[in-house]
Amino acid sequence: MSVLVLGHKNPDTDSIVSAISYAHVLKGRGIDAKAVAQGTPAPESEFVLQKFGLTAPEVVNSVKDKEIYLVDYSDLAQAPEDIKDAKILGIVDHHKLGDLTTDTPLEAWLQPYGCSNTIIKLIADYYKVEIPANIAGAMLCAILSDTVLFKSPTCTPFDKKAAEELAKIAGVSDLNALGMEMFKAKSNLNASPRDLIFRDFKDFDMGGKKIGIGQLELISLDMISATLKQELQDELNKVKGEGRHSALLVLTDIMKEGSELLLCSDDENTILTALKGQKSDKIWLDGVMSRKKQVVPPLQGAFKA
Ligand code: MG
Ligand code: MG
Ligand code: MG
Repeated sequence: MSVLVLGHKNPDTDSIVSAISYAHVLKGRGIDAKAVAQGTPAPESEFVLQKFGLTAPEVVNSVKDKEIYLVDYSDLAQAPEDIKDAKILGIVDHHKLGDLTTDTPLEAWLQPYGCSNTIIKLIADYYKVEIPANIAGAMLCAILSDTVLFKSPTCTPFDKKAAEELAKIAGVSDLNALGMEMFKAKSNLNASPRDLIFRDFKDFDMGGKKIGIGQLELISLDMISATLKQELQDELNKVKGEGRHSALLVLTDIMKEGSELLLCSDDENTILTALKGQKSDKIWLDGVMSRKKQVVPPLQGAFKA
């Protein structure tokens, strides 16, 4: 039976591509591994898979009695419900350390880099596993996506170096053009407000409070009409009502390099203070592009039990 390589819920491009690229590296190490995902690819990931001729990982929602490697997360809230009945063999991640624990020793490759695929490139080099051009192209896209074309404060020199090396393998010469093509695909708003909120959505436990944070990265926020914004706010209020203390939607303008925040919370003030947001006609968070580095840590601090 193959071991599974599985990314987080509401998979983003890094999560989908990490499953594919890490399964490849594991196979190169003689481990029979299979890429899977907790959902179908979002428009950006679909673009990437199609561009480089890769197939979407099979959707898996139960991992009971399976042996698995986790990629791009270590939080229980982002894992399948029955993760406690699985055997976790390893983790590759670039987020804060989550609350998963294991009964047996495991491989952990955790680095504060901009993308899980940057770490996977280092692991491939360490084990001398060659990366084929199509997987290299997809890994490059994951880095461009997670670091928002190297503009996110999460981006490190390791990400840039990995991206350059992967571009060479993939035969990509214009990283910026590829990135813009990908972000155009990502800026697709042709979905229900609920699907837009959950396209890239993560629940966090913050001092016992369930706080859900979605993010939509768009080439321009001008694409969001006043009507759509209202629909997103109404839907976000419902999402909050589904057992959450707070629901946030971070609307990131990747060209303006900042985000507008939509919010529904039992404690708006604490959130606005933590994120230094002013409530006027809209909440604009200047320079905020990264959920993991600029949104989650201040909230985690503010809601610490
Ligand atoms: Mg991710
Ligand atoms: Mg990632
Ligand atoms: Mg992201």
